[in-house]
Amino acid sequence: MRFPAHITTDMLKWQAKNWWRGNERYPLVLMLEPLHTCNLACLGCSPERYNGDLKDRLSLDACFQAVDDSGAPVVSVCGGEPTIYPEIVELIDGLVARKRHVYLCTNGILLDRFFKKAQPHNRLSVNVHLDGMATTHDFIVDRPGVWEKAVEMIKLGKSLGYRVCTNTTVFRETDMDEIEEMLAYLSSLGIDGMLLSPGYHYEVLPEKHFLFRNEVNAKFKRVVELAKKYKLYSTPLFLEFAAGMREYPCTPWGNVTRTPQGWKGPCYLVGEKFFPTFEEFWNGVDWDYWESRQDHRCRDCLMHSGFEASVVRKLGESPRDVWTMAKWSFG
Ligand code: SF4
Repeated sequence: MRFPAHITTDMLKWQAKNWWRGNERYPLVLMLEPLHTCNLACLGCSPERYNGDLKDRLSLDACFQAVDDSGAPVVSVCGGEPTIYPEIVELIDGLVARKRHVYLCTNGILLDRFFKKAQPHNRLSVNVHLDGMATTHDFIVDRPGVWEKAVEMIKLGKSLGYRVCTNTTVFRETDMDEIEEMLAYLSSLGIDGMLLSPGYHYEVLPEKHFLFRNEVNAKFKRVVELAKKYKLYSTPLFLEFAAGMREYPCTPWGNVTRTPQGWKGPCYLVGEKFFPTFEEFWNGVDWDYWESRQDHRCRDCLMHSGFEASVVRKLGESPRDVWTMAKWSFG
């Protein structure tokens, strides 16, 4: 199976529970950013995500409150660099104790320190950022030697019994042959899965590296082919969407984001407003508007954080899609 069985069963139970309660909208994934402090300043990352002061981090209680409030069965711990968070081991242990599946999204630099204090668990996946082979990745993270360290940590994590996956952003300059080389290399290390996302153009970031919609479509047509050969975590229906082969409305409420500034609305990418409580966030965002993608910031967006949940939301409408997803899950 592509994922541990509990992820699928927890997700199905959560959907059934919400269906029973008559909820049409509910979070599937919590993007938990306990800090906005980082040991890198990568191209493609907005300064608000790495310039934060460590003392402004979320407390453990605030993190657990966010988890309980959202109810989402999957928690992606990101940031900032979460391995800098002083209470990271207690945070992961607490999330596992709450029966969440946790993705620890990291650049890998401090993973050996984390591995010394933590324990592998089938509810924990270590998700290492890797945007290509060594020269490209080190250029993007703006520091030599980071690729080598990340790969060393992937190997160490696997040897210690952790589930280890990778997360790659496809930029305008990304050479898709190099992406295939990276996927083949990571597969040879026994990686558990690889996620590819389009870095799309929006106004906050310098536009030269980010893709417009037609450019994402062209790059992801190749990814659709690569997915037949390599173990990708991106769903085949999302990849078809990113390749321009199908359409979806956005599902911004599927992946909700808690940051040190509050709940970020409407979505992981666009921080139009930060809300102090989950209730104010949930009731304060105009979901109809953001689902419709009529905002200019949505024009080129094909992000998995907005549209993987759309795959889940729309799945029941097509038996063929259900079959495609079933084959993929067991593949
Ligand atoms: S389309 Fe993209 S930018 Fe717009 S709400 Fe959805 S995820 Fe956010």
